[in-house]
Amino acid sequence: MTHKSRAIRIDRQGGPEELKLVEVEVGEPGPGEIRVRHHAVGLNFIDVYQRNGLYPFPMPLQLGMEAAGVVEAVGEGVTHLAAGDRVAYASQPPGAYCELRVMPARCVCRLPDAISFETGAAMMLKGLTAQYLLRKTLPAEGLQAGDFVLFHAAAGGVGLIACQWAKALGLQLIGTAGSDAKCELALAHGAAHCINYSRENFAERVRQITGGQGVKVVYDSVGKDTFEGSLNCLRPFGLLASFGNGSGLVPPVNIGQLGAKGSLYITRPTLFTHIATRESTQAMADDLFGVVRSGAVKIPVEQRYRLADVQQAHRDLEARKTTGCTVLTLD
Ligand code: NDP
Repeated sequence: MTHKSRAIRIDRQGGPEELKLVEVEVGEPGPGEIRVRHHAVGLNFIDVYQRNGLYPFPMPLQLGMEAAGVVEAVGEGVTHLAAGDRVAYASQPPGAYCELRVMPARCVCRLPDAISFETGAAMMLKGLTAQYLLRKTLPAEGLQAGDFVLFHAAAGGVGLIACQWAKALGLQLIGTAGSDAKCELALAHGAAHCINYSRENFAERVRQITGGQGVKVVYDSVGKDTFEGSLNCLRPFGLLASFGNGSGLVPPVNIGQLGAKGSLYITRPTLFTHIATRESTQAMADDLFGVVRSGAVKIPVEQRYRLADVQQAHRDLEARKTTGCTVLTLD
């Protein structure tokens, strides 16, 4: 038996105009799969890379990596979920831009009753990313309360979650953002300082703020435009976690400069290594659900678009017009 669903698909990689609203047939879940009816879908910058070709994918492609909803059916061998469960997920492969889908159950978690579908849809990919960055991606000597870290694009989706979580961990997060209004937002969400990097040299400001010491870790999702400056913000043995390319890919690196700048480390982490097993996904999700339920982290849904208006959502995200998290609604 099949069921109809509206979905967003691209037939070739390119601009936002390639995002097409289509009707698809959804079947029954196979072994290890579930069928889930979405209540809300999350928008992420990775969706832009998959749409515009920065990350190559076979076509056609149904985009979307994050959503929340209710399980309708489970396939053979799925033991941690049952029909009727409220769930949320960050998934690989893509396909979340739809009302209904069949997908691997492994990456799907039960959503606590206290957390709404909209919050679940907005927080899984971005919140699990903040979780592994702050809790699992450590410099050699570890992070302790009071340590300075630098977090670029601090007023974005991952950024505003990281600001709050870092504060809860006692870290002094120095944010960067592209406007004074965005800096205000990052400060209101727990950043200890925020630098408007569209008009200030952020590496110089970081040196001033840290009394010339530099930070233990830089979390850099901006990529090409910030890479060099980020290295200049680190103290000896500091770690650059380069986890995105909002401004373009980081060019090839001369590793000799890591020695010259103080025995630095670089890592290029991705969430999908961290959520490769059911056990690690659930452990990370439990940590995220804990800080959301305690109120330490409030998921900032700042924009909502109808699924049919996804082209505009992509335009606004790429044009740096959004802040915090963005959700696609299914009404
Ligand atoms: P954001 O809401 O943070 O949006 C991206 C932000 O990047 C913009 O708002 C903008 O903020 C900043 N930016 C800087 N330069 C540019 C540019 N040239 N074009 C567009 N934006 C720019 O997105 P998300 O929260 O969804 O994701 C944040 C980043 O984290 C992305 O790069 C994403 O790919 C990465 N990511 C990586 C993961 C991983 O595991 N490796 C997982 C999840 C996300 P401003 O105007 O303040 O500069």
